Formats: sequence, structure tokens, C-alpha cells
Amino acid sequence: MHEFKYRNKQLYCEGVKIQDLVKRFSTPLYVYSYHTILGHFIKLKIAFKKSKPLICYSVKANSNLAILRALVKEGAGLDIVSGGELFRAIKVGCPPERIVYAGVGKTEKEIKEAIKIGILFFNVESISELENINGISKRLNKITNVAIRINPDVEPKTHRFITTGRLTNKFGVDFKTAYKILKMRKDFKFLNISGLHIHIGSQITSPLPYVSAIGKLLNFIRKLRKEGIELEYLNIGGGLGIIYNKETPQTAEEFAKRLLPLLKKSNLKIIMEPGRFIVGNAGVLVTKVLYIKSTSKKKFVIVDAGMNDLIRPALYDAYHNILPLKMIPQRKGNAQKVDIVGPICESADFFAKNRTIPKLKENHYLAIMGAGAYGFSMSSNYNSRCRPAEVLVKEDKFYLIREREAYNDLIDNEVIPEFLR
Ligand code: PLP
Repeated sequence: MHEFKYRNKQLYCEGVKIQDLVKRFSTPLYVYSYHTILGHFIKLKIAFKKSKPLICYSVKANSNLAILRALVKEGAGLDIVSGGELFRAIKVGCPPERIVYAGVGKTEKEIKEAIKIGILFFNVESISELENINGISKRLNKITNVAIRINPDVEPKTHRFITTGRLTNKFGVDFKTAYKILKMRKDFKFLNISGLHIHIGSQITSPLPYVSAIGKLLNFIRKLRKEGIELEYLNIGGGLGIIYNKETPQTAEEFAKRLLPLLKKSNLKIIMEPGRFIVGNAGVLVTKVLYIKSTSKKKFVIVDAGMNDLIRPALYDAYHNILPLKMIPQRKGNAQKVDIVGPICESADFFAKNRTIPKLKENHYLAIMGAGAYGFSMSSNYNSRCRPAEVLVKEDKFYLIREREAYNDLIDNEVIPEFLR
């Protein structure tokens, strides 16, 4: 599943001892495995080869240029949600006809840029947005491809913050609205409404919610066909879950086995938008133990990474396995129950709560596992902390793919007005 393994009691990423990367780049440090990233992409591609999907990696999961480039070189398309992500997609040489663009709040500037570049299509999330894209296309005198994002109202059984396919969520339109749009499609003279899109949530560990959502889509597509409304694309979004703790997510093969017969029935070109599945287990956040502190109620291990570097535990109460870079011998009475926390002035700044772990000491180093997706891409400068460096490992070689930020980066765009000088 990933290429982070112990060798001679030291944690390695592929052929590189992570402790050596710490010596070179310090901590906190993100470390990614190139072969794990590509391996996941290829696994999905092979599992779904009968439906020949365009796999558009979801940039938001991890948007580092080197990672995008690695996937684009391997034939991936990109799923984007902002002008900034479009900028990155173009920077890494992604052909525009492999870019799909979702998001409920695309601005006029962002829409214009994407139309001019000639992306494959927009995943449109409301009638107002559809009207807006039609108007902008008219002004640019271009016909724009769009897919309608449907909210199929299915329960994906995941954390409520990453559920996106219920009618209580802000995403997409219901079937009734989609039908209305398709019936009046000729009124949108500058749009080619050529597809349907769903993305029902993230970290989904069973194929059943997809089966249910795609089943609903198939009924809808049948109804449209009867009325002479033909489409070209079916985009089933992302959301495939991975192992963080004790989950037993579907493998790519199991997922494909359940979905391929349904996708075949649609008779449409298939698009997928996986993010977490590709990069989630391909990255770790390495951190140093600064202090050990006990209160009458708890023992705290204070590390040099914080919620600004990896916000998932604070945001979703997410579980991350935490491993020492150097294996600690498991002796009787050696284990202890601790909270592993960061240096930030928030009680939500933690990586583990009441975790039983071999006895840690100051200056030990830890790898927070499964940090490749929604790790660095959700990081911030909160508490004026410089964001970590990122390193990509390929076999026994490593590459710095983002420098650690410096204090000057923190204030680069700030100005003290003249009257305060
Ligand atoms: N597609 C869309 C429209 C999304 O909003 C997201 C994530 O939020 C994804 C794809 C990727 O999801 P995941 O990383 O769970 O595969």
C-alpha cells in the first residue's frame, strides 16, 4: 500500500533513511514516496481499464508541482477548483483537454481564464453559475462544455464535514433541477451541456454509496435518452477511502468490480477524480519531540509540527498512525498513554489523544503517517509559523520539491502604511 518500511529498525521511504532527510532538511518535514503515488494511480487505471476512464487527479489533495507533474506525465488529467489550481495545472503542462473544473463559487475571472485556456469542461453547481458561464462564453464568442453536478442525495457514511452528496450539502443540483436545465438546454446558446458529474464525499470505504448514486444517475440518463437528450461524459468524482487506522476500504479491484457493469450501462465516457486514494498514504509528516510534560491528569508529548502543518486531526478528529523514525524496543511496562500535541496556542492542536505508544523521549523523531493528502495543501502560517519543506523520494534518491519557508516569506505581501512609519 505504501513504501514506508522499517529496515534495521530505521524507518525508510523507498530506499532512503528518513533520519538522513531530517539531518539534511530539519523538521517539520513532509516526505513523499514517488512510487507509492504512481503505484496508486496505475492500480486504478488497470482496475478500470475496461471503461478507459480519464483519471483526473484532484489537485486539492496535494498540489505540489512535482507531484502534479509526475501524474500528468503518466497520463493523468487534473480536477481543479480554483484559478490557482488552473495556474498550477498549466505550469506542469497538463493538456487543457484533460482538465475538469468544479466548485460552487467560481468567479468571473476564474471562468474567463479557464474558457480561454480551453479546459475539457466545467462541473456546474447551480443554475446561476450556468447562466454566468453562458454569458461569459457569449462575450468571448466561444461554446463552452459543461457537465451538471448532481447531488444524488446518498449517505456516504463518512465524516459529516466530508459528506458532499446529501441535499443538506451546498454542492450540485437535485435531479429535478438538472432535468429542468437539460430541457431548456437550447436556451444556453453558448453552452454544450455534455455530461453529468457526482462527487458524494471523501474517505468512503465501501462501493455501496457509489452503486446507489450511479444507479440513480442511470435511471436519469435513461429518462433523458427517451426524450432525445444525449450526453457524452459521466464523471463519478473521487472519494475513495484509504487506511488510516483500522478501516478496511475497498481495493481498486473491488471498487471496479462493483462499478464497471454500471458504468458500461451508461454508455458514456467515464471520468474519475481521485485525490486521497493516490497521495494519502504516499506522504508522512516528520516531526521532532521537543518536550515531555506531565500534569496530574495527562502526559503530553510536545512536537515541533503543529495544526498549521497538518490540520486533519483538529478539523475532523482524524486518526493518523504515528511511528518513531528509530524503532523503540517494546519492553514490558515501556508503553505509555500520551497526547501528542503541537506548539500552537489552541487546544485543538493535537495529532493523537490518549495514544498508547512506546516511551518517547525528547529529541526522538516521529513520522505522522498518511499525511500525503490534505496535509500540506491545507497548511497555513497560523502563529506566524513557516510552512515545512517537502521532499520527494524515488528509490534511493531524494529531491527537495518545496523549500522550507523563511521569516521573510511570512511578511512578503504585507505593507505598513506611510502614516504609521
Ligand atoms: N472531486 C471533487 C469535486 C472534490 O470536491 C473532491 C474533494 O473534495 C475530490 C474530487 C477528491 O476527493 P478525494 O480526495 O476524497 O478523492
